[in-house]
Amino acid sequence: MSLSVRMGDAGWMFTGYRRRRYHARKEALMAAPVLCAVCEKTEEFCDCEKYCTICKGQYGIRLCTDGLYYCPDCREACEMRLANELTR
Ligand SMILES: [Zn+2]
Ligand SMILES: [Zn+2]
Repeated sequence: MSLSVRMGDAGWMFTGYRRRRYHARKEALMAAPVLCAVCEKTEEFCDCEKYCTICKGQYGIRLCTDGLYYCPDCREACEMRLANELTR
């Protein structure tokens, strides 16, 4: 029995997200303000339409440390931190 049978497309996607998360954390250590990946402004000045980068939801959307917007649910699922938490 191999584990790969249970790792469908969703499994690969999740692996990708985790890899990005580690990349984001490394950049976060440099203490630079997190910028919106689209307009390259901070959350405060970002004028983009804010929706969750994963589920496209529009409730409670916040900029996270990788420069993308997440809803509270997806943020928790990806263990993503708010951009603002770093600058506080
Ligand atoms: Zn923006
Ligand atoms: Zn979401």
